Parts: sequence; structure tokens; C-alpha cells
Amino acid sequence: LVLCCWIAVANAEYKIYQDPKQPISKRVKDLLGRMTLEEKIGQMTQIDRLVASEEVMKKYYIGSMLSAGGSGPPPTASPQTWIDMVNGYQKGSLSTRLKIPMLFGIDAVHGNSAVYRATIFPHNVGLGATRDPELVKRIGAATALEVRATGIPYAFAPCIAVCRDPRWGRCYESYSEDPKIVRAMTEIIPGLQGDIPANSRKGVPFLAGQQKVLATAKHYVGDGGTTKGINENNTVASRHDLLRIHMPAYYDSIIKGVGTIMISYSSWNGVKMHANRDLITGFLKNTLRFRGFVISDWQGLDRITSPPHANYTYSIIAGVGAGIDMIMVPYNYTEFIDGLTSLVKNNFIPMSRIDDAVKRILRVKFTIGLFEHPLADYSMTKYLGSQEHRELAREAVRKSLVLLKNGESANKPLIPLPKKASKILVAGTHADNIGNQCGGWTIQLQGQPGNVTVGTTILTAIRNTVHPETKIVFNENPHPGYVKSNEFSYAIIVVGEPPYSLTFGDNTNLTIPDPGPSIITNVCASVKCVVVLITGRPVVIQPYLAQIDALVAAWLPGTEGQGVADVLFGDYGFTGTLPRTWFKTVDQLPMNVGDQHYDPLFPFGYGLITEPVRGN
Ligand code: BGC
Repeated sequence: LVLCCWIAVANAEYKIYQDPKQPISKRVKDLLGRMTLEEKIGQMTQIDRLVASEEVMKKYYIGSMLSAGGSGPPPTASPQTWIDMVNGYQKGSLSTRLKIPMLFGIDAVHGNSAVYRATIFPHNVGLGATRDPELVKRIGAATALEVRATGIPYAFAPCIAVCRDPRWGRCYESYSEDPKIVRAMTEIIPGLQGDIPANSRKGVPFLAGQQKVLATAKHYVGDGGTTKGINENNTVASRHDLLRIHMPAYYDSIIKGVGTIMISYSSWNGVKMHANRDLITGFLKNTLRFRGFVISDWQGLDRITSPPHANYTYSIIAGVGAGIDMIMVPYNYTEFIDGLTSLVKNNFIPMSRIDDAVKRILRVKFTIGLFEHPLADYSMTKYLGSQEHRELAREAVRKSLVLLKNGESANKPLIPLPKKASKILVAGTHADNIGNQCGGWTIQLQGQPGNVTVGTTILTAIRNTVHPETKIVFNENPHPGYVKSNEFSYAIIVVGEPPYSLTFGDNTNLTIPDPGPSIITNVCASVKCVVVLITGRPVVIQPYLAQIDALVAAWLPGTEGQGVADVLFGDYGFTGTLPRTWFKTVDQLPMNVGDQHYDPLFPFGYGLITEPVRGN
């Protein structure tokens, strides 16, 4: 009896770190002081959910986990299933000695985009075209709710890359080639995380309750500047250019309290960013006073060497030594844990470096309220794909579209298209295809054409919008001779790139894939045509421009295709402007606004503005 009660009293012992009324600095200090090396290294380890279990979380004191690129529950799983999954792993973490909750992260890069039925917002390139940071902040807030709806408190977004070459497969994840626009769009961070209180110290993440998520500015730094836009490659730039072009959006992100910063796979002048102590510890932590934690990219340590994983011990020394706090391992976690443990024991990595990492991770965990609310509740599921969020996405689509050509001259515009017409043709591989509209990072890492999630295709949107007497003919791939002159009042052709992400999107020719060009040529030869491009970047369009009557860059608009019809038919005006330079030929690349020999097809900032029409 004595033993039992003694244990009960001991368990109830007051611990500073468990007291939410204590200042965070004290809680961190108290908790760090109680931790073993094993527990500390566990905090620094992020594993993929494919190798996680309640047991693993518990046994290795794992501090964080992620579901990457479709490694979540089955593609059509409900938000409840996601919450069950996250809470399940969390129970493992909560049953450890110190009960430190783990932090679950996901790539919510355009809405909670790996999750079925979520609202998919336009990819960043389209948001750049809106020039509307306040809208982007609202999108951040909606995304936070949809991520929380699946029980997840952490998003690997936003990507604040400044893409300087559209041949890069990740160019659509970048808001613009212009650092000023990227800087403005960091407004998504207070949208995701909440505004930092006026009196708080800069660089401390702040989450306004359980309605917000921790954000990640990525990929530090120079990811968008690699030679020829080759993914994960080398950015050749003077320090001056690095600081002028690629760094400024990090200043804004830190001032706005971003909680985490992810390191880029790329190198700067031949040095892998994951091993760049000068830019991580020196510049980011010491000069800019970033107080959140630095996270590696997926297998980022492995890729310090080439071939990857050639010398993992060296990679750990280089990466952790450079100042990376949390390592997205994400599979071979025992190798990482054992490796780092022995490096610390043998004094290759000082304990002070480990303590710096763990302090930062704990500070973030306390700040976001994870200790008080480690388990998600089911009341948030109502936000996933809500009507309100779909309306917001539709607004974003409308504002992201850029009108590049409209009839032969200003007094003979084709857009706004008449809603009442006898017969119109809708053609193209992207007209009735949600997956194509959404692009990469949607349900699957690479995205996928077809009926991948719930949304409105552009064809459906056109049907919803035209006059009831207007007959619509849809043909995905009309062959030569299909379109007789005078048969149709006009045609809307929707073509573009298939979904892709990462290196799979690297592309040196940037042509519209087949059968896009032949559809344009066949249809536009016989009927007035509007071409709507669904692409992550400018593509080769000059050879067809003379045949096309009206041209719209719709980027990767996401699930709410209704926004496209809203502006085509004049319910709203076109207001979007190019966030990127539109080249004539690929041999001009890279070509960015401000360059000496600037000779674009459509310059950065171009975009025809139209007025909404009433009673169309
Ligand atoms: C990407 C990151 C992403 C991570 C986790 C990496 O391949 O570069 O942007 O956050 O995977 O999915």
C-alpha cells in the first residue's frame, strides 16, 4: 500500500514543463534538463508514417513524423481515418517517460492537397498572378483549417522559391520570378499560423489556437536558381545575388514568425545547402535570429554525398553540424539514431549542438500548444472541402487567370464570350479533367489525370454558366475535319501539361504535349477559338499565336473550375497579370524581368484587363 501511494504521489509531482502557466523558456529548460541523449536524438528524428507504429514512436522517442506524397491512408480515406491514424501514433509518444508529443507534418502545398475531398487551391504560380497577398493570407487560413481537419498540426508550406527558369519541374510551386512578389505572398504564413502578437519577439511562431498550423518556409536557399532549372542542382550566384534574389522572402517569413525552415537539396556555388554551416548556423540562426527549427528535406542528409548515402556518417556530421535541427530521415531511422549517438559520444558533434536543436524543437512544440492538445478531436472534420473554402478557391481562380490575347484588336474582343449562342465546342484534354486541373502534389505526389478528387471541371463550369438554350458539344480530341466552319459559334480549347512534380517535371523543350498543338491547329482553323492553357509555367505558344483568337493562362487552378467560366463569360473581369516572363523560344532561357537582353513574347506583369458585363 505504501509503495502504491508513493508511486501515485511521485507521478503527480509538479513539473514545470507540464505547467502551461509557466513561460515557454522555463518549460524548455526544465524539460531539456530531464532528457537523456536517447530522448534528445529521438526529438530530432522525423520518420515517414510507412515505417511508424505506436511501438516505434515509443521505443525510439521519435519527435516527429510525416506522411509524404501519398503515403497516407488510401486515396479516398475520410478525414476521420486520418485523425485516427495521427492520434494512434501520438498515443505511442504520449506513453513515453516524459510524454513529449510528436509533431505530424504533411505537404499541404495548395490546400490539404494529399487528402480526398479537400479544397485544392491554385498552385503558387497562379496565386502570384493575383498580386493579392490578402487573398493568399485567407487561403492560408482555410488551408490551416483543412489540415487540422485531418488531425495534423504542421504543413510543409509555403514554398518561397524564386523560380528563375521555367524548365525547373517545381516552377509552379514558386509565386514568381520576382522576389518582390514572393516576399508579398509570405502573407500566407500568418494565414497558416496566425498573426504574431505585436509585442512578441520576431521569429517566434504563434498559433492562434487549434485552428492554425505550423508553417515551413522552403527550400533554404536558392532552390529556384539552379542552372537550367535542373531540380536539386547547383545555383551559381554571387553572394550579393543570393541575398538580393533568393534570400529576401526569408526575412519576411522570419518577421512573420515562421516556425520552421526547410533546407534545399540544391547547392550554392558547389556546396550542398544541407552542409552549409555558414548559411544555416551563421546567417539564418545567428545573423537573422531565426528562432524556430531547421528541418532537412526528405533524405536530405543522404544526398549530401553523391551518390546519395555513400558516407552516412559524414553526412550526419555535415548536416547536423551545419545546424539542421530536425532530420527528415525518413526510413532508416535506426541508422540515423545510432550514427548520431555515436558521433556525440565520440565528441564529433558537441552536446551543445544537440541541445540547440532540441531546444528549438521543444520551443516550437510548446508554442503551438502541442503539450496541451496532443490529440486531435473530430469536430474539425467539417472544414474539409467546405463550401466556404470552395468559394474562396473559386475567387482565387478568377483572380489568377491571365488574359494574354483577346481578339484581333481592342475593339473586337472575343471575351467576354456570349452565354447565349446556338452551339459551342469545348475541346481538349484538360477540359473535363480534375486531375489535370490540379497538377502535381494532389492526392499523389506526382498528381494524376482523371477523377482523382471532388471538384468542378472546366467543362462542367461552362455548362453551369451558359444560357440553357446554348448547345454544348464536347470532344476531347477533335480530329482534322471534325469542325465544319459555321457549325459552332465559337470554341473553347483547354489543353496543357499533364500533372507532374519534382524532377519529373524538369523539361527542356517546354512544348505543349500532344495532342494539344494539333487540337489548337485543327479547331482554330475553322472557328473562333479561345485557348485556355492549364500549365505550371509558360510554354511554347508563339507558333500558334496567330491562329488563336483569345489566349488565357489558367496555370494549375485546382478543384474549382467554376472560376474559369466566371471570367470567360464576363460575370467577373480578368484582373490577373503575369508573375513570370513568357518567352518566345526556349533558347532565350533563363530570361527574367530586369535582364539586359529582355525580349519576351509577353513581358512580366502583362495581362489584359476586362470589365464584368451584366445581363450576358
Ligand atoms: C520535397 C519537399 C517536401 C518533402 C516531404 C521532398 O521531396 O522536396 O518539398 O516537403 O519531400 O514530402
